[in-house]
Amino acid sequence: SALEPLEKKLSLIYFPTCTVSYYSALLEMTCRLANTLKSYGVQRGERVAIYMPVSPMAVAAMMACARIGAVHNVVFAGFSSEALAGRIQDAQCKFVITCNQGVRGGRIFDLKSTVDKAVKSCPSIQHVFVAKRTNNSVPMGKLDISLDEVMAGQSSVCAPEPMDSEEMLFMLYTSGSTGKPKGIVHTQAGYLLYASLTHQYVFDYTPGDVFGCVADIGWITGHSYVVYGPLCNGATSVLFESTPVYPHPGRYWETVQRLRINQFYGAPTAIRLLLKHEENWVKKYDRSSLKTLASVGEPINQEAWEWFYNVVGDGRCPLVDTWWQTETGGVCIAPLPAEPGAEIRPAMAMRPFFGIQPALLGEKGQIITGNDVSGALCISKPWPGMARTIFGDHQRFVDAYFKPYQGQYFSGDGAYRTEDGYYQITGRMDDVINISGHRLGTAEIEDALDNHPDVPESAVIGIPHEIKGEGEICCTDGLVIYFVSCESISSLFKVVKRLPKTRSGKIMRRILRKVAMQDTSNLGDVSTLDDPSVVSEIIEAHKQYRSHAAKK
Ligand code: AMP
Repeated sequence: SALEPLEKKLSLIYFPTCTVSYYSALLEMTCRLANTLKSYGVQRGERVAIYMPVSPMAVAAMMACARIGAVHNVVFAGFSSEALAGRIQDAQCKFVITCNQGVRGGRIFDLKSTVDKAVKSCPSIQHVFVAKRTNNSVPMGKLDISLDEVMAGQSSVCAPEPMDSEEMLFMLYTSGSTGKPKGIVHTQAGYLLYASLTHQYVFDYTPGDVFGCVADIGWITGHSYVVYGPLCNGATSVLFESTPVYPHPGRYWETVQRLRINQFYGAPTAIRLLLKHEENWVKKYDRSSLKTLASVGEPINQEAWEWFYNVVGDGRCPLVDTWWQTETGGVCIAPLPAEPGAEIRPAMAMRPFFGIQPALLGEKGQIITGNDVSGALCISKPWPGMARTIFGDHQRFVDAYFKPYQGQYFSGDGAYRTEDGYYQITGRMDDVINISGHRLGTAEIEDALDNHPDVPESAVIGIPHEIKGEGEICCTDGLVIYFVSCESISSLFKVVKRLPKTRSGKIMRRILRKVAMQDTSNLGDVSTLDDPSVVSEIIEAHKQYRSHAAKK
């Protein structure tokens, strides 16, 4: 009976089958799963890998870990077995929770077999818990536990483990500028406070609203604004498992109509894709429930902003461009909150959130004051949601974020402060590229390519791409025959004899970028190149590729 009021409140609306779930149902699922994990030996403080598509069971898996004080390590369920294995090994996980299969955009993915492959190189794994997303059966081995069977026999009551505010809540891997992804660590109280406050104020959430963040739980956006922020605030949160164009390009807006979504939070890459289609795909659906529109993941260009604002929002909903990162835990710069009626400028994150003190720093490490200036975007004071460390490598955490600019948290992004003092993000300053809103380290892709016996060396760069934000070009001095990658990596390869390197062996990626962009009139200083003649060689190779492509 204590749960009765909660019964009345919608908690999760799971889109594909439109299962409506309640807080009480989520609690029961969470407790049964938490008890299952405990009975198979999962202990407080231990890391549990979650490799699942967006689904109520995935949310319950995160909650179950949190409930018993275990640390979830969600790995995007589109990542390869190698990427999963690397993350399991680095986090020293003993357990994985997954599904038999995933369903996305009309296709079925064999998640369990990917986990099986990964686990072969992860001797730390003791058990793999398998939930059922489809009715197809998959081979089960010695380590595998069928969740549906064992959860039914578990108690639906599990007392939450008391945790210190600074103990780990979860870890989440993100790409850095070296080959090894970083296991970013978030802790209990600060993260939750920050996720819930930003969820409330940045999106203007009010009780009773249906909050629609279409991100995957494999990214920080899914953690903070599909799961933790909305659940902290007792919100109805939409779980979107599909793609924006399946079965048709009106999918988002049909969902808005059917679920009466009030806040819609998506990525510029999806918006850029959708605006290429007939406006009628938007217009034919009733979007009158919408109150706030929001975007995240990369800079939103003017055209996408205008289309999102005018076509989707009919020019009547504030559209907030939210800037933040895996490391920041929640939104740090966004047009809202602001005084009622305050202006919102297109395609600009604009205003720091409560307690966020942005600073722009110059090349010599000086703080750049005044307006109409650009610099490295730093945050000068700690805030509740900030990451606390990189799992197993605190020194790397200090070196990556606090060494570049003394006394500052360095985001890796550049920003411009307008004449009116608003912030506009200009993009990454390091060797990290942003494809479809997903951060990928160039070194990570290069590592994968270099593993191929026919690829002695490779260089990956980001160049602007109309829809995905950035695409990449690989230059290798061997022959690329096969390249199996996660779906977010579009590939555009150039095979060259040599890469442009400095005498100290550093690849000068800016030259590759200029050649790829066909902007070779001013290549800048090439005097530090080991052999400057490599430049004309690469330009020639690029020309040949272009004429070959044109003939095709
Ligand atoms: P992630 O940690 O994977 O969410 O990636 C964070 C990175 O995405 C940031 O460092 C930015 O480069 C980029 N990013 C996120 N949101 C925005 C935004 N609103 N405007 C520009 N870049 C963004």
